[in-house]
Amino acid sequence: MALLQIAEPDMAGAPHQRNIAIGIDLGTTNSLVATVKSGEATVLADIHGAKLIPSIVNYGSENLSVGTPAYKLRISDPANTLVSIKRFMGRSFADLNPEVTYPYKFVAKTGNIQINTRSGVKDPVQVSADILQYLRTVAVEAMGEEPTGVVITVPAYFDDAQRQATKHAGELAGLNVLRLLNEPTAAAIAYGLDSKNEGTFLIYDLGGGTLDVSILRLAKGVFEVLSVSGDTSLGGDDFDHRLFCHILEKSHLSQLTDEDTAQLITKAKLVKEQLASLEKVSFSAVLSNKRIVNLTITRSEYELIALNLVKKAILPIKKALRDAKLDKESIDEIIMVGGSTRMLAIRQAVHEFFGRAPLTSINPDEVVAIGAAIQANVLIGNKDDDWLLLDVTPLSLGVETMGGLVEKIIPRNSTIPVARAQDFTTYKDGQTAMSVHIVQGERELVKDCRSLAKFTLRGIPAMVAGQARIRITYQIDADGLLSVSAKEMLSGVSSFIEVKPSYGLNDEQIGQMLHDSISYADSDMQQRMYQEALVDARAILESVEKALIADAELLNESEFTQINHACMKLKIAIEQKVSDFGAASSKVKQLVETLNQVTSDFASRRMDNAIKSAFTGKQINEIE
Ligand code: ADP
Ligand code: MG
Repeated sequence: MALLQIAEPDMAGAPHQRNIAIGIDLGTTNSLVATVKSGEATVLADIHGAKLIPSIVNYGSENLSVGTPAYKLRISDPANTLVSIKRFMGRSFADLNPEVTYPYKFVAKTGNIQINTRSGVKDPVQVSADILQYLRTVAVEAMGEEPTGVVITVPAYFDDAQRQATKHAGELAGLNVLRLLNEPTAAAIAYGLDSKNEGTFLIYDLGGGTLDVSILRLAKGVFEVLSVSGDTSLGGDDFDHRLFCHILEKSHLSQLTDEDTAQLITKAKLVKEQLASLEKVSFSAVLSNKRIVNLTITRSEYELIALNLVKKAILPIKKALRDAKLDKESIDEIIMVGGSTRMLAIRQAVHEFFGRAPLTSINPDEVVAIGAAIQANVLIGNKDDDWLLLDVTPLSLGVETMGGLVEKIIPRNSTIPVARAQDFTTYKDGQTAMSVHIVQGERELVKDCRSLAKFTLRGIPAMVAGQARIRITYQIDADGLLSVSAKEMLSGVSSFIEVKPSYGLNDEQIGQMLHDSISYADSDMQQRMYQEALVDARAILESVEKALIADAELLNESEFTQINHACMKLKIAIEQKVSDFGAASSKVKQLVETLNQVTSDFASRRMDNAIKSAFTGKQINEIE
């Protein structure tokens, strides 16, 4: 009789054990952790009952607090209570907006961002790691087990440095980061849009401090980011502030203490949030001078004072459509994401703009975490689906070749993960090192692209130019991080680099680089042709000059002069300063052609000579 295997509870590797996968929305204002339980994605609550966990850490002298308790300390202990740290991720001090003042003690006003707190120096990665660590404990408490793997979401415009920083924070928090996922993509997954065959979706995300508008195209199971737009200084906080000012005016208040200001801003935020479901809201506050503020705010009153902000919040949609070269009719679905899209005025404005209703059935502040949990559940192998969601590279990645040209190795919009290899060779006889310069961008010339990193492959055995075979491999992992290796295939020497630029590109720069590549395409092509002609010309000149030194006796005097003359003319053309690249490259090509013609007899005589000497002294049966 066959024995049936019965799993003991908590037995590692037990049959049918389900791995615990979690999705984390690491937000600027709030963070959430979600998981898929019995086929349903749910957001987990912490011990304070909060599902929306404020992305705030307070560093006390002995211990730190995260979330709701830290939120309460932001007024009384601002220097040690770090808020909106996501804005600093993967950024250096120079990237910060000089107009914003922070209550923190920065270690230095240059280089990487580091903040002095009561419990030591903290950088944005460490602070994010502390938030993630807290979310991890929320998951462990809710599920009774450590999560096996996690998907963390990042904004679509996050560059390599910001993604690296986020992934690093996850690892510091002891999490097994399966993948970083773009926030708009996560929202689309939460709505099950990935199960469609294709479509174009606009994701409208208005959070606490930022507005992100992304247009995604889904084709053959791959989400491609067509454009990103937004406003990094427009979010729910601005609406709070607007209402706070209105409250001051209405109750004739001025000269508030810091505590009174904080109290009234908190009230304003509450009133704003309640007005999403109520027609009017009353509140009262007792100020430090004992004065009592009693007010009732109606929804229409609030909408009137917030009108300008609502208008401002619609503009980036137009830009995103323009950048993606789409009209609003070509958008199949509009998804509302972020707590601030609960505001009816925002929903109405988006509805009016498109002439149809956006998707709002999933809680807008949970939708990203839910999408991340669904994706994590698939990645960990709990779902027998074979689909895997892929993102694409925003800009092409290439390598510098002779003449300052870019050879694209991974073209823009390649789905990731991806690995591509290409073989290169040496330019000079006896060349033992090769410099590999990694660049990003769409333009033809290195100087117009962004330089990401450089490294040198050394120890190439000395060979004749063109004989070594150097394979350069570019690999982008599922999180969009690039590593590059170079290997000389005959000797096996290799070199490797992981690209971590000190700070990356923002979405505007990416947009600009794409825009430039289109508007300069023609002149770039001509410059490229010219540079290629130069590289060819130099190589021919070098080999002819070498041949003249080695085998001059094969030529009579007039032949020698003729070849020398052709060389001189080509050299002069190469050195000339050029403005019309088209004309210049035809000239160089024509002179190369002439040089080829006047040396063709010389070349065949040399060939005969070489064959003769190779066969000299050999038995006939040795010759194949
Ligand atoms: P982030 O992505 O920036 O971390 P969230 O998506 O969690 O932020 O959004 C937080 C913002 O949403 C806050 O400004 C909050 O006041 C706002 N918000 C939450 N609920 C409501 C509501 N019912 N009405 C209006 N705004 C709301
Ligand atoms: Mg968010």
